[in-house]
Amino acid sequence: MTTATASRDYPRIVVPPPGPKARAIVERQDRFASTSYPKEYALAVARGQGPMVEDVDGNRFLDFMAGIAVASTGYGHPKVVKAVQDAAARFLHICGSDFYYESFAALCERLAQLAPGTSKKRVFLANSGTEAVEGAIKLARHSTGRPAIIGFLGAFHGRSYGGLSLTASKAVQRLGFAPFLPEIHHVPYGYRYRCEYCRGEQACNRRCVSWIEQELFTKKVPPESVAAIFVEPIQGEGGYVVPPAGYLRDLRELCDRYGILLVADEVQCGVGRTGKMWACEYEGIEPDILLSAKGLGSGMPIGAIIAKESIMKWKPGAHGTTFGGNPVCCAAALATLDIVEKELLPKVSKMGERLISGARKLQDKYAVIGDVRGRGLMVGVEFVKDRETREPAPDVPRELVDRAFKKGLLLLGCGKSSLRLAPPLVVDEYDVDTALRIIDECLHEMSD
Ligand SMILES: *Cc1c(COP(=O)(O)O)cnc(C)c1O
Repeated sequence: MTTATASRDYPRIVVPPPGPKARAIVERQDRFASTSYPKEYALAVARGQGPMVEDVDGNRFLDFMAGIAVASTGYGHPKVVKAVQDAAARFLHICGSDFYYESFAALCERLAQLAPGTSKKRVFLANSGTEAVEGAIKLARHSTGRPAIIGFLGAFHGRSYGGLSLTASKAVQRLGFAPFLPEIHHVPYGYRYRCEYCRGEQACNRRCVSWIEQELFTKKVPPESVAAIFVEPIQGEGGYVVPPAGYLRDLRELCDRYGILLVADEVQCGVGRTGKMWACEYEGIEPDILLSAKGLGSGMPIGAIIAKESIMKWKPGAHGTTFGGNPVCCAAALATLDIVEKELLPKVSKMGERLISGARKLQDKYAVIGDVRGRGLMVGVEFVKDRETREPAPDVPRELVDRAFKKGLLLLGCGKSSLRLAPPLVVDEYDVDTALRIIDECLHEMSD
């Protein structure tokens, strides 16, 4: 810790947020924008720098949600900004589905080489996580000739019909939109803290995985009809849930026994967030298809389907996109991957350890914290009314997020009663300690 960290100009609250300028924007946007946007709190952004976000009234916030785990390299990283500016000045669009340009070729090559495992990969570039999921559903059915897909309770895969059909994290996201894609089956995730299978057992025997084989496959869904299992290596929207050790390996083996594709949705947990480039590297597995988006472009919209070459063999015209792999977004992604690989990856694990051990200290202090889990800078804190019954306490993260905002810390909930800590990957000791201090202050006030 250096003295430089002692004199930061953030967090800094000059007007209780939302101030007058923020309120004017909120009112205007709420009058004309779709009523479906969830909206967390009245943050109206003017600019950002590193892990700091400044609102239109001059308040400076420390960001521990990164615009939903997207601002991986922080705000305004000079290399990303320059890459975007240079690319924008050259050409904004030509359509990578139909023509060629260097950044498109370079990004496909780069992602194919970065993906875990030794098989040769091919890459489809999309605009978003949802579009990557949607394409992967199509690719899985197309390449296996099988109809069924297995997803997990708590999973989030997007809002389009394919993605939404696979999503099972909040019922409000599905209410009124049925019927969904047929042949999608949800099974419980490896959620150790709320396990349905190993209750009362000391060790985790990953019975949730054997259940798929012994129950689902024998009673309802014949495995030879299953195209793919879609899994988030760490569940994001569902509560920042880290599955038990061996879980992804078990799923990999299950898939191999029946010729089922394993699709790792790393839209939220990938691109260095967990301290490795991809979260499934922690289990040493090679997914058949890997999906990326969110942090990949540091905020520029880009998604990717990275598949084994043996699987991505669909014919020209079978799948495409007008904007996917936009040249400005490709430039942002290439710069982001450089920065994450060369500058940030070694730091993420170190900062992550500091964050999780700080969160565990808060758990010792506050009985409302039932569970702390995470990898790298993807940390979940789950709140309960009672540590014995583990009854969820959704009001606690809600109030905590609100209080933290007023003190200059941006947070976001997830799952039923959890808090997600997902700062830009550029945070340092000062940032981690400041976030923990503010959370401590809020919980202290709330326990009075
Ligand atoms: C956010 C998310 C998506 C959807 O991505 P969008 O870019 O919002 O379309 C899909 N999968 C996971 C795991 C996500 O976190």
